[in-house]
Order: sequence, then C-alpha cells, then structure tokens
Amino acid sequence: MKRISSLLLAIFFTSTIPFSVADHHAQSSFKVTNISDNLILLQGRGGNIALNRGQDGVLIIDNDYADLGKELKQQIENLAGGSALKFILNTHWHGDHTGNNESLNQQENVNIVAHNNVRKRLSTRQEMPAFNRVVEAHPRPALPTITFPDSMTLHFNDETLILQHYAKGHTDGDSVIFFKKNNAVHMGDHMFYPMFPFVDLASGGNAISYAENVGKVLEAIDSETVVIPGHGPLTDKQGLMDFHTMLVSTIAEVKSMKAEGLSMKAAQAKGLSAKWKKWNVGFIKEPVWISFIYSSLK
Ligand SMILES: [Zn+2]
Repeated sequence: MKRISSLLLAIFFTSTIPFSVADHHAQSSFKVTNISDNLILLQGRGGNIALNRGQDGVLIIDNDYADLGKELKQQIENLAGGSALKFILNTHWHGDHTGNNESLNQQENVNIVAHNNVRKRLSTRQEMPAFNRVVEAHPRPALPTITFPDSMTLHFNDETLILQHYAKGHTDGDSVIFFKKNNAVHMGDHMFYPMFPFVDLASGGNAISYAENVGKVLEAIDSETVVIPGHGPLTDKQGLMDFHTMLVSTIAEVKSMKAEGLSMKAAQAKGLSAKWKKWNVGFIKEPVWISFIYSSLK
C-alpha cells in the first residue's frame, strides 16, 4: 500500500503542468492565439486579453500593463484589418488588466465598460497592502464610461456578450464575460490556472465567495466552452472544474485548521495536503493562499 501511494505520488509530481506560465513572460511581445476567426487571445505579461473583431469593429477585454501599450496598440492594429477599436471591457480594476485604458483611448472615442466598482476604484487612490503599493487615481480617459451594477448584454459583431458581475470575488468589481456564439468565457481574475489565485482582500475580495463564484460559472458553461483564465493558458470546463476543486478543498483544509484552533501562522507552517503542491507555481505561494482563506473565513 505504501509502495503504491509513493509511486502514485512520484507520477503526480513528474506529470508536469502543460506549460510554464513564465514561458511567454520572458519575451516582450504578445503571444497570439486564434480561438476562432473573430475571437483572438493575446498573452503578454499581465492578464490575458481577448479580442473580438468583425463588421462592427474591434472590442477587447482587458489590456495588460501600461508599459506594453505601444506594442499592444500595434497588435490590435494588425488584427483589426482597418477597423476601429470601439469597446474596451475591464474585468476588474487592477493595473495588469487596465494599464492601457488611457493610451488606447487617446481621442476619448472608445467606450470603456466595467462594473460600477471598477470606475469607483480607478477614479480614487487605492492601497494594495498585499504588495505594499499605492495606486493613484486615474485620469479621466482611463475611466469606464459605461458601468453596470449586476450584468449587461452587448450585441456586437453578431456576437452576444454577457458581462456578469460576481460580488466579493477577486475584488468587489469583477466581471466574467460570456461569448454566447463562440461558446467561450473570459474569467478575468476569477481564474488563475493552474495556480493559487490572488484574492485582493483590500479591494473587497473574499476567498470563500471567490470559490462560490467559480462554482456559479461552472453551472453556466458546458463541456465545449473555451475557458480563458485571467492568467495562464487556455483551457476548458474540466480545467475550471479542477481549479474549483482545488479552491473548495484547500478552503476546507484551512477551515478545519482554524476550527482546531491553529493561528494563521500555525496553519501556514502546517501547510496544505501534498496533492495541492502542483498549484504552488504562480506568484501567490501556498502560505499566502492560506492567509487569504484564513482571513476570508468568518
Ligand atoms: Zn487582478
């Protein structure tokens, strides 16, 4: 029995993750992947960008860090085939997703769409204690012009986009965006794959409801849905299920450690079960993930 389990463990640890998330980060250019003829994935250094193109023009979801602006603009022009950028959708306020709201909106003729709280946070000074960082209020051209409280539908390029807000997730202003015709979903930072997620507690995020939100998205997609994580490679419903299982299971482990009376430090020292170590490959390391869960528990 012991031999079998150690063999299984060996297989587990040698079956490597599809490809390292650091792979495409080493080069400065964007990796371009066609999901369909009109839906394209751009992967730079920050959050994944989805681009939709067609007779109505171009729409992008998220837009990476500000310093990649020039290159991103060029990429969009290359893919647009002469049509103009009409819509920028922000999944949430973080700078690795909204860094080029302003630079892509030079003439202020692009509609920036996001949840109400994205505009609130971008227009005021934000503190990110997790990174010892302060983000100053953004200028007018960087702010969303169309905001919504719960959900909105956008009819563009013969595609129906559902922008669905999920409360108290990665922040307090996250949207997941469904492409009905392409049968694809952009998760924003409701999915880091395959790695422990960042939950921005200071921006109204909560690890417990984050996991619940991911469960709700699972109910809304099918086995054919293309799943675009906020960070990491393209995947499918199975990938999102694996992510959800990890979230729910690690939350249960931390919850029971807290119930046993362990302090956060003691829980971090004890750690999670070995089977979750393969998720410890992103910028959120296991002790930090444990702290997000611990702090999110009532
Ligand atoms: Zn984020």
